[in-house]
Amino acid sequence: MDQEKPLRTLAGILARGDIPHAFLFTGIDGIGKRSAAMGFAMACNCLAAVQEKPLPVPVPGDSGLPFCGTCRICRAIAAGTHPDVITIAPEGNAIKIGRIRELIEKVAFRPHEAKMRAVIISDAWAMNPEAANALLKSLEEPPPQTLFFLTAEHASDLLPTVVSRCRHIRFAPVSADRIAAFLQQHHGVDEKAARSAALMSGGSVARALALTDVPLGAWRQWLAAELAALPSRPVPLVLAFAEKLQKNKDQIGQWLGMIQTCLYDAVVWKYQPGRIMNIDMTDAVAALSEQESIASLGRKIDAVVAMEKALNRNLNPRLATEKLALELANRL
Ligand SMILES: [Zn+2]
Repeated sequence: MDQEKPLRTLAGILARGDIPHAFLFTGIDGIGKRSAAMGFAMACNCLAAVQEKPLPVPVPGDSGLPFCGTCRICRAIAAGTHPDVITIAPEGNAIKIGRIRELIEKVAFRPHEAKMRAVIISDAWAMNPEAANALLKSLEEPPPQTLFFLTAEHASDLLPTVVSRCRHIRFAPVSADRIAAFLQQHHGVDEKAARSAALMSGGSVARALALTDVPLGAWRQWLAAELAALPSRPVPLVLAFAEKLQKNKDQIGQWLGMIQTCLYDAVVWKYQPGRIMNIDMTDAVAALSEQESIASLGRKIDAVVAMEKALNRNLNPRLATEKLALELANRL
């Protein structure tokens, strides 16, 4: 399915003028749901004689939504400074009822200047039932000139009463080809790195962008080299590797993902070297693949998955990291 389909649907709704007052955009993270909501808000409020313009990233291709992208209103919306475009996102893991109450008070008044105010609630699944029920009243009796956009991965993550009051639009993962082309054309990423990031992104443009980020790219190279080197290192150096992972707690989730793709690639390399994801690091993948058996790579993949689970359950991260490092070094 093509990523542009939901955008064309939105353009069609706008052209017909039968605009619902609440939308639910579902799909994985980083495929442009929020960006599409902003584009729709621009299209409703743009000052210029409008023509089709690409959305502010991250949505590859033209949106089909009519806005100029350059007038005062379009620029303020893109910059996130327009007073009539209100965005709410989880703080920590929750959207609390206090935020929703504040919002309801705010939207009871007419917009400052917008023809259509937009309220974008990202990750709306994070509303607890209390917050969702408070919002429900606004969805039932919409305030004047206000459009709600809720985003979530799945509709089933939300109360059915909320879902039933929204026009549900599904966003599909973006194809690897399209992401690779987007990274090359709009972010100057070279062909191999773009292709590799696209393959590893699972269809998420935001994730692909993060993967092509220079510091992250450097970490990826370092991790791949470490994976091949760890088995020949003395234990204190293996624990030093664990310490380094441990020190950068914020990135550990991303690192685990990178370690996993390297290990998978080392397995794939044995049978179909042309199908690996890290195509910009074939030397490191080949080295790892040649020195490790399938069984050993399988154990290591299991260890990474176990570590991800331990992180989610907030188990002692130091212990878990050391255990993982020893497993990656074939010492367990
Ligand atoms: Zn404009």
